[in-house]
Amino acid sequence: MFRLFHAKFIGPKLHPQKTITFQLLFPPFKCCSLLFETSLQFYFISSYRRDPLLSTLLLALKSSSSVSCCRVIHARVIKSLDYRDGFIGDQLVSCYLNMGSTPDAQKLFDEMPHKDSISWNSLVSGFSRIGDLGNCLRVFYTMRYEMAFEWNELTLLSVISACAFAKARDEGWCLHCCAVKLGMELEVKVVNAFINMYGKFGCVDSAFKLFWALPEQNMVSWNSMLAVWTQNGIPNEAVNYFNMMRVNGLFPDEATILSLLQACEKLPLGRLVEAIHGVIFTCGLNENITIATTLLNLYSKLGRLNVSHKVFAEISKPDKVALTAMLAGYAMHGHGKEAIEFFKWTVREGMKPDHVTFTHLLSACSHSGLVMDGKYYFQIMSDFYRVQPQLDHYSCMVDLLGRCGMLNDAYRLIKSMPLEPNSGVWGALLGACRVYRNINLGKEAAENLIALNPSDPRNYIMLSNIYSAAGLWSDASKVRALMKTKVFIRNAGCSFIEHGNKIHRFVVDDYSHPDSDKIHRKLEEIMRKIKEVGFVSETESILHDVDEEVKTDMINKHSEKIALAFGLLVSNADMPLVIIKNLRICLDCHNTAKFVSLIEKRTIIIRDSKRFHHFSDGLCSCADYW
Ligand SMILES: [Zn+2]
Ligand SMILES: [Zn+2]
Repeated sequence: MFRLFHAKFIGPKLHPQKTITFQLLFPPFKCCSLLFETSLQFYFISSYRRDPLLSTLLLALKSSSSVSCCRVIHARVIKSLDYRDGFIGDQLVSCYLNMGSTPDAQKLFDEMPHKDSISWNSLVSGFSRIGDLGNCLRVFYTMRYEMAFEWNELTLLSVISACAFAKARDEGWCLHCCAVKLGMELEVKVVNAFINMYGKFGCVDSAFKLFWALPEQNMVSWNSMLAVWTQNGIPNEAVNYFNMMRVNGLFPDEATILSLLQACEKLPLGRLVEAIHGVIFTCGLNENITIATTLLNLYSKLGRLNVSHKVFAEISKPDKVALTAMLAGYAMHGHGKEAIEFFKWTVREGMKPDHVTFTHLLSACSHSGLVMDGKYYFQIMSDFYRVQPQLDHYSCMVDLLGRCGMLNDAYRLIKSMPLEPNSGVWGALLGACRVYRNINLGKEAAENLIALNPSDPRNYIMLSNIYSAAGLWSDASKVRALMKTKVFIRNAGCSFIEHGNKIHRFVVDDYSHPDSDKIHRKLEEIMRKIKEVGFVSETESILHDVDEEVKTDMINKHSEKIALAFGLLVSNADMPLVIIKNLRICLDCHNTAKFVSLIEKRTIIIRDSKRFHHFSDGLCSCADYW
């Protein structure tokens, strides 16, 4: 800082010709806008030749970080330059827009004499960059129909991108007509922008037709198409296009790999991820930190935390995103102790933890039942690291206290919250009440949840069960009557399992699989076997679980049980069975998986909507709390 002041003072004394020295002074001043502005003012006191002044002002404009900074430069331009010099007028307009000062930008633009098509284009692209579609379109049409300037490729690209960002379908289609009228419908850059726009609109067909109508697709065309498939939930097509792209002799770049990895999030095939991992190495992209972080995140979601760790270890200089992703992996898998050690290490390495870091750390503590650690980190989070607790932190703490049966402490914490508790917080308390059968608190939590989210059927079922358990039959029937008057969006439960380069999907009572007879015979066989060693079905439990697919007579045919039977039929005994479930696993399926892991001597990994469950030797890593 002292050196900056020193520079400020010696600045004006320097020889006028030594403009280069001044330009060298700008980068340090950039760090501190006050000093930067002061330095500008000092600089402006002296007068120099026009050209060095122009280049210095252009440089200053690029580094400008506030509207007032922009205005200082603007004043200097008015005093000694013409707006046309080095297009500085256009650049000032862009700068005002980037700083979010639309009125300043518009006023300057209106006052500027000799506006040419470059000026108009820069205004259009400025509005597009800040996502102001209304102004962008207004200028776009004024430019041509009032001022008689021609649109060019740049103009179109800016407006297409604004329409894509705002998901403005009608305007987007109009633009497509404009492009056809201008004879630009086959210009590769324009078409790529349209592919991207139609992808954002969800018009996959239009994107597809445009792509194949191109005389020659370039790298961006392929990447855009890959992104279209991924964004629209058709990940297998993204993989097909990737293969076609390779056949066409194109080498994947960062954008290709990121799109593919995103596709894998929706198509969780372990072998596919391994294959892409191989491609990443052959393309020399393994040093790319964004790719490595996405990859480690993906392996963790696939239940392969050990591989995530390997990917992490290979990152030479992990940034905050990579460190947070690794911590999230430990949390999701319930490795609380490792998460704490990792957190300590990241702090030693100089990372400043933020609210996301603490969310993962507290969630890791809660998933592993580490009450004392959780309380400690919750305390030092605000006291030492000055991170104010947010709703996510409170729900982790309620979950943590609830898991250990400290329901009253959890309730007191909710009551002491400076924020209005959300469904995450009440849901965590309700979960604890379900396990510890606390009727009073459970009732309050369920009532709050219903008030917050009246369209979620699970809360009504839970409340009705709580009333029944307490013998409050009339209240229970009132809740059920209320349920009948509501229309619920039902999220069907389904489980996925990978086998033979394919994802097999099962729903409750599913007979659609070609081998379904075999699968159901296997399921009956394992249910019989586990009953022989003491498994008791949980259907009689009053506070039984509340997934949409729960129907007492269907409990033995839950999707995860069918997936489990299928997995046992087709996989090797030495491989862990990985099942992905879209909703929370029910108590009965959880118990089934525990017994199966014991009698079949298998490791079973089930990822539900909340966390990973690692079953082996009759136990689960979640210690029966989830
Ligand atoms: Zn179940
Ligand atoms: Zn579990």
